[in-house]
Amino acid sequence: MSTELQQRVRKIIRLLKRAYPDAKCSLNHSNAFELLIATILSAQCTDARVNIVTQDLFRKYRKPEDYLNVSPKELQQDIRTTGFFRNKTTSIQGAAKVLHEQYRDEVPQTMDELLELPGVARKTANVVLGNAFGLSAGVVVDTHVTRLSHRLGLSGQKTAEKIERDLIKVIPERKWILFSHQMIHHGRALCTARNPRCAECLLETVCYAKDKTFQS
Ligand code: SF4
Repeated sequence: MSTELQQRVRKIIRLLKRAYPDAKCSLNHSNAFELLIATILSAQCTDARVNIVTQDLFRKYRKPEDYLNVSPKELQQDIRTTGFFRNKTTSIQGAAKVLHEQYRDEVPQTMDELLELPGVARKTANVVLGNAFGLSAGVVVDTHVTRLSHRLGLSGQKTAEKIERDLIKVIPERKWILFSHQMIHHGRALCTARNPRCAECLLETVCYAKDKTFQS
């Protein structure tokens, strides 16, 4: 890593900490299994919408078996408003089956095991490991982290996996969990896709994005 990049990354981390010292996962959950379900539901959907749906969902379905005891149609109706509800139903029931049959209804705590669950890719696995178990296995790369990584020049890659690989190289491991929360918060608050509010952005001096809306 070049010295320039190293210094810039250090500054980005410092500024994000100042702006979002308490950033945390915004998906409501009370255990690892609920977080796994909420994260599967959050694909192509806002966390706010997922939180509305899971209010009733988590009252009705408390353990993996509960998801297996209903028809796909019934579960589809229960999660319909999160979008892509047919695929999400297949993923949730597939994951519930594996958890029930192979893990005694517990969520496993390794990346490899989580990736074996239907519908679970690295993003979901990182969310669960980081937030339910406090384990730093990688950096969560969602749409916000992707956009901000590009704008801040932390990665030029297109796929989430390659972006994560770049981030892991430049962000210290002990900061991986908080860093992704802070990036997601910043993406929602100011660095939005269409109209980034650069004049209000603490990171403006370390950001060379081509679509900046303000230049100091
Ligand atoms: S300066 Fe603008 S583009 Fe750069 S991080 Fe801030 S809001 Fe995003």
